[in-house]
Amino acid sequence: MIPLFEQLGFHVTTISQETVGDHLRIIHPTQRQASILIVAHMDTVFEPGTANERPFTIKGTRAYGPGVIDMKASLVSVIYALRYLKENGSDAYQHVELVLNSDEEIGSSTSRQLIEEAAKGKAYALVMEPARRDGSVVTERRGNGRFTIEVHGKAAHSGIEPEKGRSAIEELAHKIVKLHELNDHEHGISVNVGIIEGGNAVNTVSATAIGHIDVRVATEEQAEEMEHKIETMCASSDVSGTEIELTGDISRPPMVKNEKIARLFQVVKKVGAELGIELKDTKTGGGSDASFTAAMGIPTIDGLGPVGGNAHSEKEYLDIPSLTERTLLLAKVIEKLVEDRKTKRS
Ligand SMILES: [Zn+2]
Repeated sequence: MIPLFEQLGFHVTTISQETVGDHLRIIHPTQRQASILIVAHMDTVFEPGTANERPFTIKGTRAYGPGVIDMKASLVSVIYALRYLKENGSDAYQHVELVLNSDEEIGSSTSRQLIEEAAKGKAYALVMEPARRDGSVVTERRGNGRFTIEVHGKAAHSGIEPEKGRSAIEELAHKIVKLHELNDHEHGISVNVGIIEGGNAVNTVSATAIGHIDVRVATEEQAEEMEHKIETMCASSDVSGTEIELTGDISRPPMVKNEKIARLFQVVKKVGAELGIELKDTKTGGGSDASFTAAMGIPTIDGLGPVGGNAHSEKEYLDIPSLTERTLLLAKVIEKLVEDRKTKRS
């Protein structure tokens, strides 16, 4: 991938990582400050070796394979959009800076800072998550975070001296019920204890229990409120003698469709219309790196990748005709945004 950007004259910096793949920051040397940031991820949710078991295949108008839509196709699209601009004599591609990260699927904990650093001073952020199944781009995303509750109790034989035990499982059960009571789907709050672990024998009062929690919120206020409520809940135990250790936070802020984002969407929509694409925007519950740039107040559009579906599953597919369509859309959007800024300045 690095040589493909270098062929276009970009300078690629590799940011080495210990536990995940390396991140790339890509800048054109003619620019002191590029106006557009493109964010795309290189990691997939699949185990190493999946591509050997289930290689890239084409059936009819669809392509299949691990990560084909989330988001290998987007990476292809980005490279060819920049190349298209260069080959057609537009210097707009030089005004793009890119961050390609390798930990998006696990929350971007090592690349968040890099994205935020690169986003500083940018006029726009374009995020390359796939378009929705119906071709919509994304202007709104819920924020999300993960929490872990680890309960420490006291083991005891449940037949001989149960009164000496302090059940970590019982304590966790109280918390699970309370956590699920925080759900408010109508207002975009969802709290799900998705995995529990605990105990080691059916006739032993459990000494440990762990709950893993996924939290989604629609607004910044809800994020604070949920963090506060979960912390308060875990500050005291319902089963006396048990102790609770809470870790985690809302790590991705919500992407809220504000006026700046709505205005940028109108630009994208208009460019789309000129290409014969009728673009709609939509919101989604899933998190992405768009949340970071949007939370910084930078007009951000997500879902600018090609069209496909069933991401994270064996049935993941790319709608092949959309690859060229969305690549051209991306190229024209970049060109339009750069032109608009030039005319504004002169
Ligand atoms: Zn993705």
